[in-house]
Amino acid sequence: MSAQVNREGTLAGRVAVVTGASRGIGEAIAVRLAMEGAKVVASARTVEAGEHKLSGSLSETVARIRDAGGEAYAVRCDLAIPEDRKGLIEQATERYGPVEILVNNAAVTYYFPVTEFPEKRYRLMMEVQVRAPFELAAMVVPPMADAGRGHIVYISSGAARHPQKPYRGGRGGTVYGMAKAAKERFSTGLASELYEQNIAVNAISPGLVRTPGTELHGLVNERNEAFQTPVESIAEAVRFIASSEPKEITGRVDSIQRFMKEFELKPVELIGS
Ligand code: NAP
Repeated sequence: MSAQVNREGTLAGRVAVVTGASRGIGEAIAVRLAMEGAKVVASARTVEAGEHKLSGSLSETVARIRDAGGEAYAVRCDLAIPEDRKGLIEQATERYGPVEILVNNAAVTYYFPVTEFPEKRYRLMMEVQVRAPFELAAMVVPPMADAGRGHIVYISSGAARHPQKPYRGGRGGTVYGMAKAAKERFSTGLASELYEQNIAVNAISPGLVRTPGTELHGLVNERNEAFQTPVESIAEAVRFIASSEPKEITGRVDSIQRFMKEFELKPVELIGS
């Protein structure tokens, strides 16, 4: 049977916000949560196709979900702008009610050696990857605590791990690794802060996934094809975590391979693929 939306699925009626849902991993997560019955707020800067040099837009993500009978709404938000961050949670709440699932997936990434890193780009990476997830958490946690339940997921990266010898020069990824490490430490700290309030906080490292972003950076090629993670695996892991009892899976910082193996998950075909 081909992929479809199950409005009575394990996330039926739950309100989910996914950042970076205009393409790549975020789009797949938004689609997968909607397939399980969630009301999905898809967020990013690109609303219409052609506004960004990379493929993908919120209109396409939302249409993909609605065309299959799912529930989705687009909110334009530049995560580098504090007013936009506030507007995202306000508009999501106005449209569907208090946010119950928050997936922090968006990232902007530049690779430069530390001595050559342009300040403007450094600040942008920190705003989008560190400050924005912090502020979004501060906004969604009070309503989640009131509801007695919630899920927050961070999409991290193996780049957060410390480099091992023999060193190969790092290829300009130190700042990216730093931002992801900050996100992981924030995630475990938040998990511990929110445990008693029944709010789960977890971080997943996707491995190498073919997306418009990794294509742009020349990170995916035929030689590493066998090591690439299907985007459907990340979507499935997030779906699984968001469907679990918050106290059962929380405070985890793990690779996608570990999540898939431990919980015996299999990638699921997505609607509109
Ligand atoms: P991608 O194809 O480059 O997509 C990035 C997403 O982030 C887009 O939807 C983009 O939307 C959004 N975004 C960027 N800047 C933004 C801003 N200022 N405000 C709001 N949204 C913004 O990336 P991806 O490969 O799917 O990666 C998704 C996540 O997985 C990232 O956190 C990345 O670090 C992580 N990751 C990916 C891989 C991989 O192999 N793909 C590996 C490790 C970790 P707009 O441009 O429309 O705003």
